[in-house]
Amino acid sequence: NYPVIYAVTPTYWRHVQKAELTRISQTLQLVPNVHWIVVEDSDYKTDLVRNLLTESDLIYTHLNAKTPPFEKLKDKDPRWKRHRGVEQRNTALKWLRENLKLGKDKGVVYFMDDDNTYNVRVFQEMNKIKTVGVWPVGLVGGLNAETPVLDKKTGKVMGYRSGWRPDRPFAIDMAGFAINLDLILSRTDAVFSYKMEKGYQESEFLSYFTTKEQLEPLADNCTKVYVWHTRTEKPVVNGIVPGLEV
Ligand code: UDP
Ligand code: MN
Repeated sequence: NYPVIYAVTPTYWRHVQKAELTRISQTLQLVPNVHWIVVEDSDYKTDLVRNLLTESDLIYTHLNAKTPPFEKLKDKDPRWKRHRGVEQRNTALKWLRENLKLGKDKGVVYFMDDDNTYNVRVFQEMNKIKTVGVWPVGLVGGLNAETPVLDKKTGKVMGYRSGWRPDRPFAIDMAGFAINLDLILSRTDAVFSYKMEKGYQESEFLSYFTTKEQLEPLADNCTKVYVWHTRTEKPVVNGIVPGLEV
C-alpha cells in the first residue's frame, strides 16, 4: 500500500502541448499510485486538456491559474519571465492544503513539468521518501546532468554538482526532488514566489522543509539518472487543419 504520488504539472497552450501531455500521461499510466494535478496557465480550463484527462484513465485533478502579465515590469525587468509555473504550482499547493488532511492522507508531492522525460523508476524511488528525496537530473544547467554529491563515509549530501551556482543551499532542479505530503500540509507558508531570485525557486522552496544534511539521496545513492530536463523545439506552423484537435 504505497503513499499517493501527487504529480503537479503546470501547462500552457502551444502547438506541442497535446504531444507533451500525451507523453507524460502515458508515463503516469505505468505508475500505480499517482494522482495527477494538472494546472493550466489560463483563465479557463480548455477542452484540449479536459479531453486528454478524461481519456487518460488516470486519477486527476484539473485546475487553472493564469500567470499575471506584469506588463509594467516587462521592459524594465524581464526576470519574471523566468518564473514559469509559479502561479500554477501555488494553485496546486492550495488545492492539496484545502483537500487533504494532515495525518490522514499519506503521500508525496512531485513537481512534474510537462516537457521533461521521466523513467517510471523515478516514481518507485519516491515511495521511499520520509521527508525530502533527491536524485540526479539529466541535461540541465549546461552540464549533461546535475546531481547531489554524497559524502562517501556517511552517504549524506555534502554538496552539488551543478552547471549553475552549485553553491545554492539546494542546487537542485524542480525535477530532482519530491517532498512528503505531511511536510507540505504542515508548512502552509511554503509557496513559490516571483520575488525569489531567478534560479532560486527550488532552493528557497526546499529551505522551508529541510536542510542539506537531512536530504534523502535516492536513485542508487544518486548514481542513476531517471529524469531528464528535455526541452521540445518549437515547431514551424504556417497553417491549421480545420476540425482536428492536435
Ligand atoms: N509553463 C506555464 N506557463 C508558461 C510557461 C511555462 O505554465 O508561460 C509551464 C510549462 O508547461 C512547464 C513548466 O511551466 O510545465 C516549466 O516551464 P518550461 O518547461 O518552459 O521551463 P524551463 O524548462 O525552460 O525551465
Ligand atoms: Mn521545461
